[in-house]
This record gives sequence, structure tokens and C-alpha cells, in this order.
Amino acid sequence: MKIVLQNLTKKFPSRNKKSREEVIAVNDFTFEIPDGKLIGLLGPSGCGKSTALNLICGLQKPTSGRIFFGEDDVTDLPPEHRGVGLVFQNYALYPHLTVLKNITFPLENLRGADKLSREEMEKRAYEAAKLVQLEGLMDRKPSELSGGQQQRVAIARALVKQPRVLLLDEPLSNLDARLRLQTREEIRRIQRQTQVTTVFVTHDQEEAMSISDRIVVMKDGVVQQIGKPQEVYDDPVNLFVAKFLGTPPINIFRGRAADGQLFIGQEAILPLQGVSDQEVIVGIRPEGFILQEDGPLTCKLSRVEVMGRDISVVSTHSCSENAVIRSIINAENAVDPEAENVRFAVKPHKLYLFGSETGERILFTAE
Ligand code: ADP
Ligand code: MG
Repeated sequence: MKIVLQNLTKKFPSRNKKSREEVIAVNDFTFEIPDGKLIGLLGPSGCGKSTALNLICGLQKPTSGRIFFGEDDVTDLPPEHRGVGLVFQNYALYPHLTVLKNITFPLENLRGADKLSREEMEKRAYEAAKLVQLEGLMDRKPSELSGGQQQRVAIARALVKQPRVLLLDEPLSNLDARLRLQTREEIRRIQRQTQVTTVFVTHDQEEAMSISDRIVVMKDGVVQQIGKPQEVYDDPVNLFVAKFLGTPPINIFRGRAADGQLFIGQEAILPLQGVSDQEVIVGIRPEGFILQEDGPLTCKLSRVEVMGRDISVVSTHSCSENAVIRSIINAENAVDPEAENVRFAVKPHKLYLFGSETGERILFTAE
């Protein structure tokens, strides 16, 4: 089921009694979520992710704009008639009910033509449990399950009504690191298997990048960029997106375009074409540095961290906006950890320029 958002906006009255200014939690969202795909809705806390999800499921009404599921305009449809499955961060299982009863719960209240017999309900529950690999645990109570298993019960409960759309709001936040990894792969597998159109909300860029077909990067209620994770990483539209994606994060420098060269401090580090002379913000991905004895970018070496396959060279530079610069170098390129300086050349396709005031991307060609 394709989802279409059309100029979708949600405003809230200010919570601050002194200021009347309203909060625009979701600002003019217009995009399409293709049928059968998993979309990661990504952005920092407070940027409007949950509000966007609540609008799609119908728990909140938009201030303006429309929502379509396929060709159906569902904007005025109550949540129970939209055919959505919901999973939240706190999975809110019924503690006194078994896993089986927790999963059948949403089916108990079906009326009329949709009403199911006990037998049918249990058959559906076992099918959903099988998807999340919980069939062996149907008689347990939630307290007898691990956090990851409890979250899988919540997912089975969302799937049991065979929703047209699955909506997940930070579903992994309560799990420890290892379970988070496992469960996110599990969610991906279930999504592939059921082909249910899924919106996955998270503030964790790594999580979103790893499981999404497409990511939607948001800031202050405004969509910044939509695309395949790798495309957005490789081709960010602005400084915010460049900084939000990637671990370790992108390294930021104050720089200057002048006379067909990019300067960081006094050093000309790259020939530039198509950029007028101006102050710029320079972003260099950690993997964008090449160790080079006479390289143009000279940094003060702080330390070298061995990570097995690669090494992480930690250094500083007077024009760096970050406390330290992190460059990831193939371990075969040994660095003398006692050296005072380390010199780099940069890979042009791993270097981005942004307007110093606007933060908007400035395109260039490197000769
Ligand atoms: P996220 O899920 O990305 O952390 P939310 O969608 O929860 O963000 O919130 C987006 C913005 O809307 C925030 O500034 C938040 O304070 C505000 N907001 C959310 N819900 C309400 C509400 N019911 N009333 C007033 N403001 C709200
Ligand atoms: Mg939220």
C-alpha cells in the first residue's frame, strides 16, 4: 500500500504561556512512500517524527494537508479504520496476559463481518508469532521474556490484524546494544517477508541507514532530504544532513575559495572549479583523507587508535570546527605516533563545500 502525504502540516499552540508562537511540528510534508518499502524517518529529538507518524495513523489530525493510502483519502478516517499496525518504544504489553492472549488481543474486539472465531484468532496469532519467531513462547507472561522478545510480541500484535501499513516509533530504544542490533535485523526480515509498507522512526542515523530502503531526514518539522541511505550519505544537500549522517561524523573546517583553489588556513588543499571566491564551510568524511608525506593539509597529531582493519588518526587544526579531526586510514599506512604533525591529501569526492551563512551545499568540480 502506497502512502502519499500532500502538504501535510501540524501546528500546536505554544506550551510556553509567555510566548504565543505556535510550534510547527510537521511543516508541509509532500512525499510518497512506495508500496512495500521500509522508510526510515530520521532526525534529532523534537523534530516532529512522532507527530508525522501520529498523523499517518490517525491519532492526530493535521492542521492542513491530506493523507492517501493508495487511492483512498484517509485524512478524516479514524485510526481503527485505517488498517495500520503500531509499535511504540514502550511496548506496553498486558502483564497479566500470556503471549498468545497479548497477540490475539486486537482481534477480540472485531465485530460484524470482521468477527473471528477463537480458532481463527489463534491461527492468526500463531502465524504472526511464527514471523517473529516466538511460537515456542506462547504460554509465557511478558515478565518471563527478555526485552527483545517483548518487543517481538509487540510487533506480532501489530501484525496480527494484517495491517496495510506498519508504523514503528523508536521501537528499539529500550533495548541494550546487542539486542538492538538483532531486533533491527529481525524487523528488516519480517518487513521483507510480509512486504508491508513500513515507516520506521528513529533518531539513530546508523539504525535508519542500516535497515531503510529510503531515509527521510528531518529538522525542525521540515524535510531536508529523501533518498537511499548511501545516496544521502554521498550527496548531502546541506550541512545539517552531512553532519547528521555518519560515524565517526564528518570533519568540519572553515575554509575559503580563492583563485581557483580551496584554502584551509594558508594551505591550498584542492583545485576548485565553478566556485566564486568566498568563505566556505568544508566537510571532509573520515575516509576522505589520504596520508601523504608532502600532503597539503597539515594537522597536529594527537594520537593513533588501532581498530583492527583500519586505524583512526586523531589530530587537530586551527581551522577545525570539531574539537578533533578523525580520519580513518587503512592500517597498512603506518603512522608514527610520536610525530608532531600528520599531513594529508584529500579525496575530492569525500569533500563537500557549504555556504558559510546558509549551510547549503556548493557544488564544484575538482580539476
Ligand atoms: P520527535 O518525535 O521527533 O522527538 P515530536 O513529534 O514528538 O518530535 O515533537 C515535535 C514538536 O512538537 C516538539 O517541539 C514538541 O514539543 C511539539 N509537540 C509534540 N506534541 C505536542 C502537543 N501535543 N502539544 C504541543 N506541542 C507538541
Ligand atoms: Mg518521538
